[in-house]
Amino acid sequence: MSEKRFWNEKMETLDREQVERVRLKRLRKQLKYCYIHSDFYKRKFEEAGFLPGDIKTWEDFRKIPPLMDKEEERKSQQESIECFGHPFGVHLCCPPEKIVMAKTTGGTTGLPTFSYSFTQHDYDRWNEGSARGYWLAGLRPGDRVLFCFPLSGGWAGSIIKEPLQGMGVLCLDLGAEAPIEKIVEYARITRPNVLMSTPSFAEALIETYPKLTGKPASDLGIKKLLLSGEPGVAIPSIRKRMEEAFEGRWNDYLMINSEGFSSSCTANEYQGLHEVALDLSIWSDDLIDLDSKKAIEIKDGAIGEGLITSLDREGLPLIKYKLGDVIQVFTKSCECGYPGPGNRIKHIGRLSDRLFVEGVGVFPIAVRDVVTFFIPRVTGAMRIVLTEAPPNISPPLKIKVEHGSGVEQSQLPDLAREIEERMLQLYRVRSKVEFVPPEALGRVTKKTPMFEERYR
Ligand SMILES: [Zn+2]
Repeated sequence: MSEKRFWNEKMETLDREQVERVRLKRLRKQLKYCYIHSDFYKRKFEEAGFLPGDIKTWEDFRKIPPLMDKEEERKSQQESIECFGHPFGVHLCCPPEKIVMAKTTGGTTGLPTFSYSFTQHDYDRWNEGSARGYWLAGLRPGDRVLFCFPLSGGWAGSIIKEPLQGMGVLCLDLGAEAPIEKIVEYARITRPNVLMSTPSFAEALIETYPKLTGKPASDLGIKKLLLSGEPGVAIPSIRKRMEEAFEGRWNDYLMINSEGFSSSCTANEYQGLHEVALDLSIWSDDLIDLDSKKAIEIKDGAIGEGLITSLDREGLPLIKYKLGDVIQVFTKSCECGYPGPGNRIKHIGRLSDRLFVEGVGVFPIAVRDVVTFFIPRVTGAMRIVLTEAPPNISPPLKIKVEHGSGVEQSQLPDLAREIEERMLQLYRVRSKVEFVPPEALGRVTKKTPMFEERYR
């Protein structure tokens, strides 16, 4: 059994200087390639006032404003459907026949996007970047993964399992929409040792497994939890409960919009996501301010919106793509000893989920952080109740919280006050807590909503 420390020792152990050299070379090549092979990028570069040859240093690149976002991507796709009869967008840089894999994102609003569409070269690149992340997160050949993400067929979520086979990992794919009884039955036959799903699904399993089998969830034998798609792993109380229930270890990973390969490491305390493929894309080194959209300095603790730029991508490279995700970067080296010069990243949330209470910006993850601090007096389940359309909220911010099962009614007013005080101290936000009994908010196996939208 292989026990190498890195998936790709050569590329993951480059020092900063070597990485910068590789990146700059690939960046200049990628820009030139996009300019030559796509009228879309040619126009974008010219509108932003530069030619690929102008980009000689990292600083030159950082000055370029964001060039694309999801809406632009949809427009680009619409145009290519109408003009060229394919859905990939006019930012496609190769003949459409070269695309050998096409996966869409959810597409709950508007046209689904095809960012996860690859030529063979890009598919190999995707598998390489992803495998580095999974390796760091503890996946090894011979592992058996119970794979339970929603819509495990054509949706982009399924593509996270594609690199597993190349790593020698068995993927047992049932999809989160299968009835949980079926999933449990299947798991008891196949005996997976890894679960890949959303944290919500894992929680549903913790609650359902004992009801169905009379045994605790740890009976499943799952020792590695690779949970992603929702916050949670960074919150010690939530992580502890999850790890105790399975008697396993929880790691998360992110391959954002088919780029930005990253995963958490084996450090005891959660240290964020390590970027593991600096030679394949640029993400956390290219941050912009949330409001002014201007480049901000990359230093320990900086918070901004990360711009994605592909390196060495053939079909659908992204250049300065504004994804709408807010991240915090940590530049100091990690206690795990992972040697790459990449930053560590904490995913703060979607910029569109930011609320303003009396002018103070707050993300749902902050509210969840405050509430879960009080586990076990609360269950951890909560909703932010919106009685008016976001983002501007009249105070107090209304939070609906499930109290813990052992808490008396008479203790609730004091508990509410404690939560409200912590919210005010940490985030300067006035809030009002309303309690509901345990499990009153229901449990879902896909993604737990943060908001209860009463204004709709
Ligand atoms: Zn680490």
